[in-house]
Amino acid sequence: MRPRKIPQRKCVACQQMMAKKELIRVVRSPQGEIQIDLSGKKPGRGAYLCGKVSCFKLAKKSKAFERALKVPVSADIYDRLEADFVKVEDEFQANKEMTDDDEDGE
Ligand SMILES: [Zn+2]
Repeated sequence: MRPRKIPQRKCVACQQMMAKKELIRVVRSPQGEIQIDLSGKKPGRGAYLCGKVSCFKLAKKSKAFERALKVPVSADIYDRLEADFVKVEDEFQANKEMTDDDEDGE
């Protein structure tokens, strides 16, 4: 008799727990490549981040991805991820709003 719970994950930058769909997943693939995974379904070790550039910058400053993904992350990779992050942010927000519309709310 467990109540249904929304799966929650912690943002690696600000340490806030949030519903999974509020977070952007960054994944280290089995090949060792680090990339943003909007689908949330790619294989590999994942780290979650709020869909906010401010949190990305915080993660970069505190080297949160190194800790979460347990692998060295070079400045190049951070730069590439940051560019991707800015690109997917709009798409991410749009998807989120679409999902909200589908639900009938409380
Ligand atoms: Zn955050």
